[in-house]
Amino acid sequence: MTQNDPTYGFDTLQIHAGARPDPATGARQVPIYQTTAYVFRDAEHAAALFNLQEVGYIYSRLTNPTVAALQERMATLEGGAGTVCCSSGHAAQIMALFPLMGPGLNIVASSRLYGGTITQFSQTIKRFGWSATFVDFDDTDAVQAAIDDNTRAIFCESIANPGGYITDLDAIAGIADAAGIPLIVDNTSATPYLCRPIEHGATLVVHSMTKYLTGNGTVTGGCVVDSGKFDWSASDKFPSLSAPEPAYHGLKFHETFGPLAFTFHGIAIGLRDLGMTLNPQAAHYTLMGIETLSLRMEKHVANATEIASWLEAHPAVEGVTYAGLASSPYHGRVASICPKGAGGLFTVALKGGYESCIKFVDSLEIFSHVANLGDTRSLVIHSASTTHRQLSAEQQAAAGAAPNVVRISIGIEDPKDLIADLDQALKKAST
Ligand SMILES: *Cc1c(COP(=O)(O)O)cnc(C)c1O
Repeated sequence: MTQNDPTYGFDTLQIHAGARPDPATGARQVPIYQTTAYVFRDAEHAAALFNLQEVGYIYSRLTNPTVAALQERMATLEGGAGTVCCSSGHAAQIMALFPLMGPGLNIVASSRLYGGTITQFSQTIKRFGWSATFVDFDDTDAVQAAIDDNTRAIFCESIANPGGYITDLDAIAGIADAAGIPLIVDNTSATPYLCRPIEHGATLVVHSMTKYLTGNGTVTGGCVVDSGKFDWSASDKFPSLSAPEPAYHGLKFHETFGPLAFTFHGIAIGLRDLGMTLNPQAAHYTLMGIETLSLRMEKHVANATEIASWLEAHPAVEGVTYAGLASSPYHGRVASICPKGAGGLFTVALKGGYESCIKFVDSLEIFSHVANLGDTRSLVIHSASTTHRQLSAEQQAAAGAAPNVVRISIGIEDPKDLIADLDQALKKAST
């Protein structure tokens, strides 16, 4: 069988893409290649590998067979040309930007992002001389207006964490195309089962594999999937990919590797020199998780839909931001952007405000109060006092994390039990 046959359905590819019986032992499951280095056939082979004239394994900071299987699986599920796996979702974001950016250059980013991403983009990347301009991505004129000669990418989330905003990816991709810059989409909350950003014009897709992809809260990992469709040589904006690379005797990545230019650069320069490598055990756990992705996402969506509707009707609740509900202003985008459902994540605003939210979170029994999402278990967090704590009140509100808001990541447990738990906690929170 051809593991990556594009005519296979998602349910087949999530199990088979990238995975072959081990050539040495016949092992059917992808082994954990727990090795740092790989023996060269001879000195000539070693030289060819180091010159990027031959593809193979040198050292596990760059490539590893377990990680390579996961890279191939992610590229296949997202419909991309290649993938670079990294040590976390945040590492993946830096790895996505690194080949595009340089001192004095900027990105235009949505104001509705994971809290940690807002901090990374508004504070930390300044140390590299990069900057981010945040705008409301529902206002396409504002996105357009924020782009200047130094802009090298547009960044957003498909379903934005935590507020359940769905981005009109086609409209944003159109703006990126016209400006000759790539659109980077963080597809963590949706996963490729619910949303395939490349089909909507994204150039790069980044993931925190820590969340739904692994799915059970055991791993920290991330990846960058490249569509392989962007013409890095169309302008002089992306010299890392289009101009001669001094570290490889003047090799031009785009000219030499075509649609795999970004992926090869990510490994040969990014992982080599930044070292944000995914370890083979983490890759193995993630491969295990992805085998059941579609089944879990179906259940996450079904549970989230039922529970969000129940919460919306509860007297202690001011509102629920789940795009799967008819009341959501983003409901109309579900059919085009994430046709199989709006995910398993939403926020609930309580009438009792900050105090009520704290009591609610402390009273839940099945739901765990943790800084994570996308687990089989239901999770809850009060964003304003935790993940979004570093943000200003304005940024909190824009990101859907105001003080009276609790973020809920619905797991795949029995929805009746989850509703009973929410009910008893809401009673305690309102007294
Ligand atoms: C968790 C998360 C990240 C960061 O990923 P880590 O694996 O924690 O580094 C980025 N984006 C989104 C949408 C996330 O949920």
